[in-house]
Order: sequence, then structure tokens, then C-alpha cells
Amino acid sequence: MKKSLKILFASYECAPFFKLGGLGDVAGSLPVALKELGVDIRVIMPYYNKIKEDYHEVKKYKSNIYQSNLPKSNVPIYFIDHKIFRVKNIFDKFERARFITFSHLILASLKHINWQPDVIHCNDWQTAVVPLISKIKTLFTIHNIGYTGRTSLFVLKKFGFVKSDFDQIKNNSVNLMRQAILDADLVSTVSPTYAKEILTKEYGAGMEDILKKRKKDLYGIVNGLDYGMFNPETDKAIKVRYEIKNIERKLDNKLYLQKINKLSIKPETPLIGMVTRLASQKGLDLMETIFDELMKEELQLVVLGSGSEYYESYFGKMNQKYRDKFRANLKFDVGLASQIYAGADLFLMPSKYEPCGLGQLIAMKYGAVPIVRSTGGLKDTVDGAEIEELNIDFNNQDTRYNNQKITNNRFLIAVDGKFSITNINKATGFSFEKYDAIDLLNTIRQALMVYQDQTAWRRLQINGMKQDWSWGKSAWEYLKLYQKSVN
Ligand code: ADP
Repeated sequence: MKKSLKILFASYECAPFFKLGGLGDVAGSLPVALKELGVDIRVIMPYYNKIKEDYHEVKKYKSNIYQSNLPKSNVPIYFIDHKIFRVKNIFDKFERARFITFSHLILASLKHINWQPDVIHCNDWQTAVVPLISKIKTLFTIHNIGYTGRTSLFVLKKFGFVKSDFDQIKNNSVNLMRQAILDADLVSTVSPTYAKEILTKEYGAGMEDILKKRKKDLYGIVNGLDYGMFNPETDKAIKVRYEIKNIERKLDNKLYLQKINKLSIKPETPLIGMVTRLASQKGLDLMETIFDELMKEELQLVVLGSGSEYYESYFGKMNQKYRDKFRANLKFDVGLASQIYAGADLFLMPSKYEPCGLGQLIAMKYGAVPIVRSTGGLKDTVDGAEIEELNIDFNNQDTRYNNQKITNNRFLIAVDGKFSITNINKATGFSFEKYDAIDLLNTIRQALMVYQDQTAWRRLQINGMKQDWSWGKSAWEYLKLYQKSVN
């Protein structure tokens, strides 16, 4: 029998134990999908205080290693205990030292686990030192190139590194992600479009030169979603569960969302949701530019987010200014996130860049139609509605489009006699190309107009809910990469 591949999946976050963003979701679900393909995969992460407090099923294994399984699976997850992880905020001023320690401990822990992986799958800068110090093959996945883990030589020297260990030193510091891109056997990122984008100056964060150098070893694999976790049919965090055949129940979730956010209870008013890290990457400057204009529209907007002090304070002010139609919940709350996906009609993600994005995938599953900037994974996963002007001559009942008679096989919907969606059979959302505030505003306005046509709206919702972004295909692609890196 063929020996199964042994993979150690190293990540600083993993849902449900500890999640801050998309990588947490990936770490909690991709390994389960790979296990189903016969891979002997195990996850390793730091043992943070929060995990100690919340997850009593995590048991001591050996030495400083604790162990559990990913929920509803037999994928082992190891937690490394060390005083450097016992902090309130893992991204404090010691974060660089913290995660270089993590990288070293990953390798040191193997002797306790008594298991030798064929490949260590490293994720983001928090594990970027592993390819440099490991004799074991590595795959390095870029989940976000915006966070490079630039570290001073002063800190690196404390870990025994010397200048000549690094390809490039700038201002007495090293870009750890850059180094990992050079050292790893293979490199991947989380969508095909982002894999292309990061080769350009605009998206490469100064690493486009080495990414180009490694182009033949660079892959883009779109993230999958765990529908066991994100599913309006089974999600216990939402008020009323629903699926395509009873999608009208989604309205109860909207009314509930309005209620808990102390907004006016208005079933007909389009409600836009946003669940996001408050980081400039997420297009928040565009939001700020158009905010007052947006608030003139007949809509409601519910934001859930935490992060930058600037945007927390900004949205806090907007809470006061637009009490009846806007609510920002400035916290991290997985349950409320679900309720927003379930209650919102539209879901907004105007990202400046987006390696993959899970928000839009979750939104589609919950029938919240995404409005996205067409970049990275958003481009790969959301089919923007193609809206064109339509002339309708009601007098002679003859519908004309650019002076051509409309044929019946073209599913055509007029909104206020002005628009048609030419790709209604497959459109799942709304998208705009240029990173531009007016384009965002116009796209939201278009979406609001389409919302008035409930037949068209249902089509968009259902097209989205029918999408399959589960791990299946992407897990296979990772398996192929693991095989490639050992051969
Ligand atoms: P990123 O990884 O850049 O943060 P993604 O869209 O890939 O963005 O993934 C974000 C994940 O984190 C999604 O599951 C989203 O629902 C969740 N999330 C983001 N912000 C919050 C928040 N404030 N509260 C709860 N969940 C959040």
C-alpha cells in the first residue's frame, strides 16, 4: 500500500480554537478535507491563554505540547505552550520574537510528537522562519502579503541568526516573508488572480522581484469554505434557519438584526452588512469618502469589525450621526457575524486588495448578495451582474435593447425601465474594477436599484446560495503541491 503523505500544517491561528481572520478558518477546515483524501495531516499552533480558558478538551500530551482534534474530525492539533504565548495581545511589541520562537518550537516539538512530516505547510510571516531553518521540505502559503513580518537584526541576532543568513537587509531589518518566499520549496497564495497580481508593483509589496524569480514554483489555490460551519440550514448562531427552498425565512433574520442593532424595523429597506477586520486593506477609506452620500440612500448598514483605532473611532462617530440607519459593532463576535450574514440583503467588501476573502463566500451561502471590488479572490469567486441600459417602449409593448428586439432566451429584467442584467443566469453579486469611491457608490446604487426588482433579486441570491466553494477541488490541488514538493 502506498504510504500516505505526512503534512504538518503550521499556523498561528486555527478556528474554532483561536481565530482572528481568514487564515483561522482555513487552518480549521483545509486539514479536515485533506485527511479525507488520505493525507496524514496534523496542525500545530501556539497555546494561547484564550484556548486554555475556553477549550477544556485540550489535554497535555508531552512536555510543553498539548493536544486535541479539530472538531468532528480525527485531525490532531498540537498546541505549543511557552510563556511568550501567555499574553493578552499576541500582536504587542514582542510579536516578532513571539513568532520566531513559534517557528523554532515547531521544529523542536517534532521529537516530542515522535512523528516526522514529509512537508511542513507554513502560513504567513508568523511561520516564515521555518523554511530558513528546516531541513524538512516546506510549502509557504501567502495569505496576506501586506503583513511581511519585517524584523530588526537586533531581534534576529538574539535567535542566533547572522547577517549572511538573509538575502536582503534594509534599514537593519529583514522582511521575513521575502526570505520565506526564497527559501521554501514551493510557494502558494490563496487565489489564482492574487497569484498573478502579486507579481506586479501595485500588489507585490516590494517583493514582486523575487516572486517573479520564483514564478514557476508559485501557485494560486482558492480557499474553500467549511459548509459544516457556515451554513444557514444548520447555523445555531442565527435566529431562524433557512435554505433555498424556504429562503423567505431569511426576512426574520433581517428583522432580528434590525432589532438587536436598534435600527428601525423596516422589512422593505435594503440592509447592507459588513464583517471585517478594520484595516485599510478592506477599502474603508472609500467608505469614508462616500459615507454621507451613502446615508442619503434608502438603506441600512450594519458593520461588525475590530482593528484600527482610527476606524473604530470613525465608525463610533457615525453611530451617533446616523442612529436610525447605521450601526457599527466594534468587536470580534463570531455569532453576530453569522447573524449579519443571515440578516443582510447585501454584503459589502470593497477591498483594495484581497488575497482570497471568505466573507463573500459566506455571504453568498447565506443569500446576502456581495458587492465587491474585482480584485484577487473576489474576482475569482463573485460573478458581477452585467447591468446595461434598457429602453422600454411601453406604448407599443415592444421591448427594445440597443434598438434590437429582445429574444426570449435572454433572461432580461428591467428595473425602473432602465436596466437589464444580461448574465442573470450566473450573476452572484455586484463588482467594480477601479479602486475608486465614486465607482463604489455607483455600484451600491445599482445594487439598490436591482433590489427593487425582487424577482431579479431572488435569482442573484439563489445563484449565490447554489455555489459550491467547499474544499473539495482546492484540497486536491494542495495535495498535488505536497507531492510536488517531495519529488
Ligand atoms: P481576512 O482574512 O483578511 O480577515 P477573510 O474574508 O478572508 O478576511 O476572512 C475573515 C473571516 O473572519 C471571516 O470568517 C469573517 O466572518 C471573520 N471576521 C472578520 N471580522 C470579524 C469580526 N469582527 N467578528 C467576527 N468575525 C469576523
